[in-house]
Amino acid sequence: MPIAPVLPVSPGKFPLSDYKPLANAELNRRIEAARKQLGSRLLILGHHYQQDEVIEHADLRGDSYQLSQMAADSKDCRTIIFCGVHFMAETADILANRPEKLAERADQRVSVILPDMAAGCSMADMAAIAQVEDAWDQLGEVIDTNELIPVTYINSAASLKAFCGKHGGIVCTSSNAAAVLEWSFQRGKRVFFFPDQHLGRNTALTMGITNAQMPVWNPYEEELGGHTDEAIENSRVILWQGHCSVHQMFRPEHVHQFREKHPGIKILVHPECPQEVNDIADISGSTSKILKTVEAAPPGTKWAIGTELHLVNRLKKEHPEQEIFFLSPVVCMCATMYRIDLAHLAWSIENLVAGEVVNKIEVDPETAHYSLVALERMLEVR
Ligand code: SF4
Repeated sequence: MPIAPVLPVSPGKFPLSDYKPLANAELNRRIEAARKQLGSRLLILGHHYQQDEVIEHADLRGDSYQLSQMAADSKDCRTIIFCGVHFMAETADILANRPEKLAERADQRVSVILPDMAAGCSMADMAAIAQVEDAWDQLGEVIDTNELIPVTYINSAASLKAFCGKHGGIVCTSSNAAAVLEWSFQRGKRVFFFPDQHLGRNTALTMGITNAQMPVWNPYEEELGGHTDEAIENSRVILWQGHCSVHQMFRPEHVHQFREKHPGIKILVHPECPQEVNDIADISGSTSKILKTVEAAPPGTKWAIGTELHLVNRLKKEHPEQEIFFLSPVVCMCATMYRIDLAHLAWSIENLVAGEVVNKIEVDPETAHYSLVALERMLEVR
C-alpha cells in the first residue's frame, strides 16, 4: 500500500467551508478580483493535467519542471499558487528559493501554496524515504553501492531527490530519462531507478537492457525486494515497484480495438504506461512531446492518446482539425490533482490578499540543498 504523508492543513483567516457552497461564477469573480490586487507578486501555475475551470486562472501552464523553472525565473513573484500536486510544489519551493535566487531578491523567499494538501501523487507516495534507505542498505550487502547510481523521476518527494543528491545520483524527467541513464552508466555499473518502474523499464529497454537485467524491487518483501543475490548481482537497472495509477490503466487491448476500428490511427502514449502498451504504440513520449507531436501533425490525422484525460480533452478542443480519441474506455484522470478546485483556489487567494499564506509548502534546508544537487546534475545532462 502507498504511504501517503499526512500534511497539516491551514485554517486560514477565512474558512474553506465558506467557499464550498459558492457557485463557480461567484468563485471565478472572486478569484479574478483577488488576482488583480496581487498583480505580478503572485503566479498561479497550472499543470497540464489540471481541470479546465482551474487552468483558466493559471498565469503559466506546463509540466511540473517547466512551471517551477518559469516561476523561479520571475523577478517580481513572491508567492506561487501551484495548481498541481505536492511534489511539484516542493520542486517549485526548492528552485525558487535556491541560493542565487535568494541573493537576487535580497533574501526574500518565495512562498509556495498548494491549495489542497490532499493533492498528492499516488506514484510519489509508493516510495517512502525510509523504504528507499532500507533498500539501499540491503543492496549494499550484495553489491558495491559505490557503483550504483540512484535515479529518481521528478515525480517523487523532495526527500528522494535529496537521497540522490547525497549518493552521487540524479533526477530525471520523462523527456530526458534516456540521457540521464547514459549519464549514470558513465559513472556506475548499475542504476537504482525510483519510483516509476514503467518509465525506468521503457527507457532502459530502448538502450538494449533486457527485462532479465531489471529486477523490480518490492519494498514489502522482507529480503532483497523479493530477489536472490544472483539476480541483484546480474542487474543493470533495479526498478522500484511503483507506478502511476492513471497511466497504468491503458491496456494493449485498447490499442488493438482502436486499430481495428480506425485503420491508420496513430497511437501516442506517455512512457509511464506499462511496457506492453508502450511497445506497440506508434510514438511514446513526455507530455511536451505529446503536445508538440499533435501540434505538428497535418489536419485529418487520427490519434488515440494514452495520457491523463484532461490533457487529452484539451488537445481535442484545441485541435478540431484532427481527430483525437482518449485511449481507454474508462476514465483515467489524476484524481489527486483534481482535488484542487475553484473553491480551494478562491480560499487560498483571498487568504493571501488578507495577508495569510495558507497550505505553505517549505522544504527543510538540508533536503532542499541535496535535492538541488541532484536537480543541477540533471541540468548538466544534454
Ligand atoms: S498523473 Fe500519475 S504521476 Fe502524475 S501526478 Fe497524477 S498520480 Fe502522480
